[in-house]
Amino acid sequence: MPPSRSQTTSAAPSRHDPHGTLRGLWAALANRLLPAACALCGGDARGVLCTACHRYARPEPCACERCAAPLTTLSPQCGRCLAQPPAFDASIAATRYAPPVDLLIQALKFRAQLPLAQAFAHWLLDTLARRPQVRADLLIGVPLSAERLAERGFNQAHEIARPLARALRLPLRTDACARVRDTLPQSALALADRRDNMRGAFAVTDRAAIAGKRVLVVDDVMTTGQTLEALAACLKRHGALSVINVIVARTPLR
Ligand SMILES: [Zn+2]
Ligand SMILES: [Zn+2]
Repeated sequence: MPPSRSQTTSAAPSRHDPHGTLRGLWAALANRLLPAACALCGGDARGVLCTACHRYARPEPCACERCAAPLTTLSPQCGRCLAQPPAFDASIAATRYAPPVDLLIQALKFRAQLPLAQAFAHWLLDTLARRPQVRADLLIGVPLSAERLAERGFNQAHEIARPLARALRLPLRTDACARVRDTLPQSALALADRRDNMRGAFAVTDRAAIAGKRVLVVDDVMTTGQTLEALAACLKRHGALSVINVIVARTPLR
């Protein structure tokens, strides 16, 4: 799936200025034909990132199949997941949350560099191609609260999930669940308080879309996993057959 440059902006031509219209047409054409600057290194790129920077997506050589945390032993699951199995069935991460991937994710989230979502979807597609056993009926992105959505103007998980769903030829159901309670930022809380903070944060708004379905949950970053745990528990309560997290970047366990 080559990343599209369709979201790259160019100056809109003025309606009453024929030179402006020509300039606009030329910009649109150049946009399609000429290499642009890679979002990370500034080098020539046909897509959002150049070929070299696409390689920054490095899957962990050994990760927990349940929560995608990097492991140092050849065990299928980490001790935490074995001791307290999460509500989700598996987690797949394209890469580790480390420089320079962290900068790219922050650029998408906090500087609205929306074309980066295409590059992340590309990484996830490559990652899923190595897991042919993964089966799914639909995708959802982790919902933001209405307040957070209004503040940011977009949901980065949906921006990543949209091109991924298109490439996988699966429906993206952004309307099937919602974040009903705004929670405190997880980073501000001790680990023990994070689960309580997330309780009741999500609701399924279209049960028929979820019941009996295999759901891929898309998000940008997985840190403690408590947000994804709360969402998976909610989806399972409403009859989801399986829940697999598909994450751009996973932080190592702390
Ligand atoms: Zn580059
Ligand atoms: Zn684990």
